[in-house]
Amino acid sequence: MTAFSLKAPLTALDSTPFEHEQVVLLQDSVSGLKAIIAIHSTALGPAVGGTRFQAYDSDEEAVRDALNLSRGMSYKNALAGLDLGGGKAVIIGDPAQVKTESLLLAYGRFVASLGGRYMTACDVGTYVADMDVIARVCRWTVSRSPELGGAGDPSTATAVGVLQGMRAAALHRWGATSLQGRTVGVAGVGKVGHLLVEHLFNEGARVVVTDVREDAVRRVTDKFPQVTVVADTEALTRFDSLDIYAPCALGGALNETVVSAITAEMVCGAANNQLVHPGVEKQLADRGVLYVPDYVVNAGGVVQAAGELRGLTPRRSALQVERLFDTTLAVLEHAKAEGILPGEAADRMAEQRMSASKSRRSRGRS
Ligand code: NAD
Repeated sequence: MTAFSLKAPLTALDSTPFEHEQVVLLQDSVSGLKAIIAIHSTALGPAVGGTRFQAYDSDEEAVRDALNLSRGMSYKNALAGLDLGGGKAVIIGDPAQVKTESLLLAYGRFVASLGGRYMTACDVGTYVADMDVIARVCRWTVSRSPELGGAGDPSTATAVGVLQGMRAAALHRWGATSLQGRTVGVAGVGKVGHLLVEHLFNEGARVVVTDVREDAVRRVTDKFPQVTVVADTEALTRFDSLDIYAPCALGGALNETVVSAITAEMVCGAANNQLVHPGVEKQLADRGVLYVPDYVVNAGGVVQAAGELRGLTPRRSALQVERLFDTTLAVLEHAKAEGILPGEAADRMAEQRMSASKSRRSRGRS
């Protein structure tokens, strides 16, 4: 196993002023575990965020990912009204090659050593079954299987949250929540995307999909033969008469080329970090396209995980997820009232919640 040897100081790996509370580099020579846990903020409560398991080109890239993703979790959790801070972990390596039970247990012991400052959940490359293994040695684990008292796969709740976000945005933009007769393009029909397609058909929408994986597309067309399939995301963004474009694959879906070609009036999807840089939102707005910030609408999974931590019944947890409708509407209305973009409105609202909590805490200490 290669040891950590970061070529740059941690602070230099962060593109914004370094504001993380704690960053832990983990390695275990027995299991081969090499991981990073980044705790961005515990202002609102213990940090919660998933464990991403993937190969990186360099250790620096992995650290940078953990720093960015953990900051994103602080904002997501704050805006969703959760009393939870933001954290994220990455395990370095191709999960298909290096994921073993002993590695997951070693990882669980490291998470446990933080004493609950960071709680882990599923993310890209980790699944409910992995959380069940980690939970054997770490009680700060969520998204466990229902048989073990967990809430299960977060994707179901994430898809519901995105749908609620779309309905709220439709009300804001078109004056009615209904998606009946609207044409929605879903890019990426994986765990979240294929469930979203189902919800959209139930709402009476027309759905156009694309995915790089044929089996993923087939799963959708087998169930919904009326779905339109296009070759790739480029064809989808240019698709005639698209009302909503829903990026549900990887990050960075929205760049200058997409913006110049997009036919939809609105972008609202599950993928994290959709904008290649914040300026893209302004370019979308200049073309009359409403961007619904990704972290506002894709919080359903973490809302469900928070319900698991609080011991809520699945029904009560589901009601909390549905409230993402109100959160989305509040962000869009705030943006309109202040004459700012929805992304800025969301950030401001999340920051207000975090700083109010920090001042309450410091008043309590003085
Ligand atoms: P997934 O891996 O199950 O699905 C992603 C799908 O996108 C796959 O089917 C993949 O083949 C497809 N894809 C990849 N590149 C593509 C491309 N260039 N064009 C078209 N399709 C492409 O992942 P998921 O869990 O459904 O998550 C989707 C997105 O939502 C991710 O960005 C994830 O970070 C975000 N998200 C997921 C959750 C959750 O609960 N799963 C929660 C919050 C955010």
